Amino acid sequence: MSALPEIDAISLRVTPYGEADLIVTFLGAEGGKIAGMARAARKSRRRFGAGLDPGNRGVLSYTLRPRSDLATVEAFSEARPPELGANPVIGFAAVSVALEATDLLSVEDEDSAQRFAALTELFAAIARGTDGRVALALFLATALSDAGYAPSFERCVRCGGEIGQGSRFDAARAGVSCGRCGVEAAVAPVGPELAARIAALTPESTDAAAGRVAAEWLGAALQHATGRGLKSLAFFREIGS
Ligand SMILES: [Zn+2]
Repeated sequence: MSALPEIDAISLRVTPYGEADLIVTFLGAEGGKIAGMARAARKSRRRFGAGLDPGNRGVLSYTLRPRSDLATVEAFSEARPPELGANPVIGFAAVSVALEATDLLSVEDEDSAQRFAALTELFAAIARGTDGRVALALFLATALSDAGYAPSFERCVRCGGEIGQGSRFDAARAGVSCGRCGVEAAVAPVGPELAARIAALTPESTDAAAGRVAAEWLGAALQHATGRGLKSLAFFREIGS
């Protein structure tokens, strides 16, 4: 008997199916997204425990089924949830947005190493004590850059000029547009002081206010780039301030 495929994976999304089953969407450390049916996962928690919850990372064993887009989840071993840091509600909201963003950006059968690393780095930063708002802002900046929309808070995203009076965050270009340039999808006015605080964010930053604003704006940019809504962003907005 040949061994089942086994990969390091993170659960992104769980959907109840029928009376007893779950459909779970994972991001693999390689190979992109995998959607699998976890049979009887809702009836018997013994097989998967709480291991399938979104955000959990573990070793996924699965079998591919003929004529089906869904794999069968055989096991998700050593599963552990992300640590949510000193402010678990903020940590949870940040992780939720990051999982949903990853789900939107990922497809099956792709090289997912970079995206997987970005997600595990977000988990590690929050576990180390980085504020969830700052960690999410940095995660979304990386996700947008990887998708070809590198965010810009230092100079005008259109003309490269200085950010001054009348500057706005433009979701269509994931950056700040100066007062002299046009804006496709204006989100909010940005003064030079706030733009500088956002541009200066690092995992060591304690500027949660700048992190929150940046995460909300970059979330809007990601929605614009994918043409899809990030449902968890509303929850993050509600509890993040
Ligand atoms: Zn400009």
